[in-house]
Amino acid sequence: MLYPIFVLMESSKYETVIGLEVHAQLLTQTKLFSGDPIYFGANPNTQVSPISLAHPGTLPKTNANVIDLAIKLGIACNCEIVQKNYFARKNYFYADLPKGYQISQHTTPICKGGNVLIEVNGRQKNVQLNRIHIEEDAGKSIHDMYEDRTCIDLNRAGTPLLEIVTEPCLHSADEAFEYVTTLRKLVRWLDVCDGNMEEGSLRCDANISIRLKGETALGTKVEIKNLNSIRNIKRAIDAEVKRMIQLVENGETITQQTRTYDVGLDCTLPIRDKEDANDYRYFADPDLTAFHISKTHIDAIKSSMPILPNELIEQFKKDYQLSDYDAQQLCDEKSIADFFIKAAAQTKHYKALANFILGPIKQYLNENNISLKEQDISVEHLVNLIQMIDEGQVNFSVASSKILPIIIKENKPPLAIASSLNLIQVSDGNELDQWVNEVLAKMPEKVVEYKKGKKGLIGLFVGEVKKLSKGKADPKVVTQILEQKLSN
Ligand code: ADP
Ligand code: MG
Repeated sequence: MLYPIFVLMESSKYETVIGLEVHAQLLTQTKLFSGDPIYFGANPNTQVSPISLAHPGTLPKTNANVIDLAIKLGIACNCEIVQKNYFARKNYFYADLPKGYQISQHTTPICKGGNVLIEVNGRQKNVQLNRIHIEEDAGKSIHDMYEDRTCIDLNRAGTPLLEIVTEPCLHSADEAFEYVTTLRKLVRWLDVCDGNMEEGSLRCDANISIRLKGETALGTKVEIKNLNSIRNIKRAIDAEVKRMIQLVENGETITQQTRTYDVGLDCTLPIRDKEDANDYRYFADPDLTAFHISKTHIDAIKSSMPILPNELIEQFKKDYQLSDYDAQQLCDEKSIADFFIKAAAQTKHYKALANFILGPIKQYLNENNISLKEQDISVEHLVNLIQMIDEGQVNFSVASSKILPIIIKENKPPLAIASSLNLIQVSDGNELDQWVNEVLAKMPEKVVEYKKGKKGLIGLFVGEVKKLSKGKADPKVVTQILEQKLSN
């Protein structure tokens, strides 16, 4: 236990500096330079034509959709969209790279600068981007299938990626966590990438260094490769910063390295020492001409884009009088925000609607691992259900636990469901009166306590009446009857 305490004491002397490189696999049907399909989970080496296999004489042809998705993300991140671009060859040898080079962008990333606004512990921060560039993915080397062999699956070779690179401007694992969370939300919002880290469609490399507080020069960095969940990004950074501080405190020097994070051991392990400059012998790919993006094209993409989450959050607060929390939660996913807007056009009970969507509907979607894109929920039935609650025909708990699941699964109107399951609340005075009398007669001591001032017991009485009525007693009316009976 000595080690963490020691690090905690010394850590206040240092500032952590982090720059993140995120690779986002684009939601295109086909690859960056060929018509080969992209389908996660396909049998190995089935999504490959002679182009992905780099047979002699094959030529690349750019997928225009990739360029548009890059522009879209660039606009959303306030980047400068570079109009004259070319693709470059990044040369290196690896068995899962059949061409012997990766087609990437070098001195002309399609998006320059830009920023992503995040909120960490209630404080806003603008994370500065260095660039966003387009590149193709390599194939996959599988080392752990056989003891004495490596398997190569080239399905992924040529898949389009955007690499989103921040400046070294993040200063804690929490900031890194929030940045990737916000970025993932944004790429999903724009239908640029599905953001699925487990399937590898969003991958993150974290570059980390430490320096004494007040210093401006950057320290020697370590790059942690291929972090495959947002939680692991945070844990890896925490573990690496601890290791670095301990090294420096022991008078040792940090060497520039590429490392990997071991979840089980909760520490980083070295993969290789990094040479200062990898010489990839970049040059413009002679098979692909430079491409020019016109202002008109950029403007057309801009005007086709949906309103961005941060702006929509403000609109929700203003137009529907929602709390910041509710508005943020609704804007977590575009399909949810769209559904809210559609339903809010048909009811004025905005808060109840938000509660329904953020509570039982989200829970249903999570439990079934689906989104509102796959599951159609009738806005009309939902709005009618909210109306029934407002009129006291059913209460929220019966509506959300019993009626809503049937609306979702069977698309039946709520009134029909409530009638057939005998769930319509009784607000008829006579029937309620009888139930109230029965309950009060059953618990005379509690009645005495209540009359002596223990007013909180009202909840118990209401609960008993609800039980007796099998959930059908309208709690609002029951409370009124009880208060009246108990006051004399
Ligand atoms: P490389 O050529 O090694 O990939 P780059 O200069 O392109 O390095 O930077 C890659 C990422 O590392 C960027 O996100 C950048 O902000 C970050 N970075 C660079 N130097 C440091 C440093 N000393 N500490 C932390 N992050 C750094
Ligand atoms: Mg790098």
